[in-house]
Amino acid sequence: MSDIIRLLPDSVANQIAAGEVIQRPASAVKELLENAIDAGSRNIDLIIKDSGKTLIQVIDNGCGMSPTDVRMSFERHATSKIKTADDLFRIKTLGFRGEALASIAAIAQVEVRTRRFEDELGTQLIIEGSSVKSQQACACQAGTSFMVKNLFFNVPARRNFLKSDPAELRHIIDEFQRVALVHPDIAFSFSNNGKPLFQLPVSNLKQRIANVMGTGNLEKLIPVNQDTDVVRISGFIGKPESSRRTKGEQFFFANNRFIRHPYLNHAVEEAFSDLIPEGNYPSYFIYLEVETSQIDINIHPTKTEVNFQEHQSIYAILKSAVRASLGKYSISSTFDFDLNPMFDFGVPGNKQVVIPGVDVNPEFNPFVKNPQPELRLSPGNISRTPATDQWEKLYSDLKSESTDPEYSGQTMTFKADFGADSRDETGFMQFLNKYIVSKVKSGIMLIDQQAAHERILFEQYLARMEQKRSLTQQQLFPQTVKLSASDAELVTELLPEIVLLGFLIEPFGQNTFIVNGTPADFPDENLQVLLENILENYKNNQLGLKLDRKNNLARAMAKNMSVRHGKALTVEEMQALVDDLFACSVPNVSPSGRIITTLISTDEIEKRFLK
Ligand code: ADP
Ligand code: MG
Repeated sequence: MSDIIRLLPDSVANQIAAGEVIQRPASAVKELLENAIDAGSRNIDLIIKDSGKTLIQVIDNGCGMSPTDVRMSFERHATSKIKTADDLFRIKTLGFRGEALASIAAIAQVEVRTRRFEDELGTQLIIEGSSVKSQQACACQAGTSFMVKNLFFNVPARRNFLKSDPAELRHIIDEFQRVALVHPDIAFSFSNNGKPLFQLPVSNLKQRIANVMGTGNLEKLIPVNQDTDVVRISGFIGKPESSRRTKGEQFFFANNRFIRHPYLNHAVEEAFSDLIPEGNYPSYFIYLEVETSQIDINIHPTKTEVNFQEHQSIYAILKSAVRASLGKYSISSTFDFDLNPMFDFGVPGNKQVVIPGVDVNPEFNPFVKNPQPELRLSPGNISRTPATDQWEKLYSDLKSESTDPEYSGQTMTFKADFGADSRDETGFMQFLNKYIVSKVKSGIMLIDQQAAHERILFEQYLARMEQKRSLTQQQLFPQTVKLSASDAELVTELLPEIVLLGFLIEPFGQNTFIVNGTPADFPDENLQVLLENILENYKNNQLGLKLDRKNNLARAMAKNMSVRHGKALTVEEMQALVDDLFACSVPNVSPSGRIITTLISTDEIEKRFLK
């Protein structure tokens, strides 16, 4: 019998290999866009027909190719981007494997026109199913135009496998957006069947994000920035109130490539966890930069998963950066910094108060060297989020003007605002036993008392557990509580945190516990029921959310301990609640995602009186 092993012809080998790189029209789009970017283009047009099934054309104004290079570019492993294996560790370009064009040419009819800026004439090359049909000089613009027609024309099985036009278009839009979001310095256009889908001028990143994601997004974006030795983080996150029920607006880029990273996604969602309703997803556009040696770059061209060597540090840095941005935004939006006049109140000779750069919750950042600032105790309350120097300066200025020594620095600003129009009056009114109504400089503010209290307690409980500083009131007569077996199990598991909250509690066998002391603000009566409710909440939270134990416990406690709707409050109680609320790191959304404050602006009110 004769020998049976043969080498496959190039065209067949290419077709097989092509399947790995080009799975659908969107993969070809991605490769062509990336090549155009690597070529240094400033303007890139993407034109497709029938969702890329009939035509994909990419026109760029990049460096172009010489007649020899354009012929070479279709050879497998033909690349201008690396020369040696060492180069692999220093890659700055998007492509480097030299596979894309060979793959595309194996399964489509391709026509290229390209001219280098310095050449008088360009080259036109036609290649189908890996075989060159013609190559000739031609007049064309500087740059390169790639036309890819009838993708998979020679691989019917593959072609039949493609999804409906709308589905394939969706994939192409995804790829296009991922590329456009990294290159605001390049103008892009994109049309399908003659219908323009995107028209993106050169702009700054924020504007580009808004242009790519659709109008109206500009105001929703909060900047995130963090520079460390391990990673540089920049980009934007969506305001909590713009969170969505779909994951559509979540983008990570590492060294200018779109990546997926469930672990880092978790870091961002954690940072948002007490700010958005359950079942919603935060929007984010986050750009990570790491040393090329710290990231596994030798990834498959169609894969978006990457590995970071220091993923744990990056997780912590990212979470803290997002948290800090949310805190800054939340404070500045609540205090209406744009309406600067409120800060003029009582600050003589200091007309221009600068918006302070607040770094909220520095304990989230393991890379900050400063020791934890001391917690301040104020009457009836346990913790305040520490302010930075600037805040303290601002407040102490205000404070020195104050006639009322009782207020701590932080609450002063708020008093300044609320007090401005109503020094002689109380300034607070309760509505429906549910909302606190108050005049502020820019209008009328309504505060949901229960949501507000939940926020305050949540931050206080969390701080207690993290600062390991509990306030306990001893029980005159120790109480025993008997729990279900599973609740008893949970209490035993959570005992360290429960003790940090201020409970003096000991197991007494058979699912029973002796309670010798409770947190200072804990009511004496109904201890058993309250504990059971808290545990119930804790378990519910475990089902839906991925919270750490402290976070979860603080939530469950806050939920059960907060004042209810329907409770009448005295003016002093309202004042205290409002003061405490605005000392929170995130005063406008409750841990369970409810809105706490809303402002009816003077403008709005005045408009109603116009005919
Ligand atoms: P890779 O991008 O991995 O190098 P490709 O097969 O995508 O491999 O491209 C092969 C080569 O063709 C590139 O290295 C580059 O030199 C050249 N090339 C491809 N597209 C363009 C373009 N739009 N403008 C200029 N040169 C290009
Ligand atoms: Mg390429």
